[in-house]
Amino acid sequence: MNFSKIKENALKYLGYHHQTLDEKLNNLIDECIEEIEKMSSFRATYRKFPLSFHPLRIDEISLNLNYPELNDLFQNCHELIIIGCTLGLQVEKRSHYYSHIDMTKATIFDAVASSFLEVKCNEYEDEQLIGKRTFRFCPGYGRVPIELNKELAFIIESSKKIGLTVQESNILLPQKSMIGLIGLGDNRKEKTCQNCLHIKDCNFRKRGQTCYAKD
Ligand code: SF4
Repeated sequence: MNFSKIKENALKYLGYHHQTLDEKLNNLIDECIEEIEKMSSFRATYRKFPLSFHPLRIDEISLNLNYPELNDLFQNCHELIIIGCTLGLQVEKRSHYYSHIDMTKATIFDAVASSFLEVKCNEYEDEQLIGKRTFRFCPGYGRVPIELNKELAFIIESSKKIGLTVQESNILLPQKSMIGLIGLGDNRKEKTCQNCLHIKDCNFRKRGQTCYAKD
């Protein structure tokens, strides 16, 4: 487990940008990492499909993917992975608990859990997927509707396989979960802010950061 990466991401989510990290915050983050490591039950599942183009879709399951960002990202890919990951219900319960008794801890716990999930997903991808691949694209970004998550969850049977469901409101449960699309065969594309819905009011950008890693 890459603990320094978890801390680095968590600080980014908390709005830290080259400030000196005080001891109290540092200890709280370490405490949260330790807690989450103990109580999380990371689970992941994925399915792989051949891609069809013009329009972009997966013929085998009649899934329409014809959105500008996906056409752009997957233009040189031959296959697509639909992936779902979660940290499990215990993290969710502990997060609720802190939100009732200690807001500071709740905020830090939330940021560390998000970072933990991201690092775990990256590690899982590195173990499972060989060869060139694009970054993980999550519905809700650009013009790809968040509603697509329901269809993707159904296709990978995320509820049955890893206990991840998509609510009517499109919220993932447990909330520290992720559903994404990864193209195979091309790793040249990097995520950009260009088509992000948050570009006008993005707090990361205001601080001179981005929510994704840059080379
Ligand atoms: S940094 Fe902000 S604008 Fe850029 S992709 Fe992330 S959330 Fe969107």
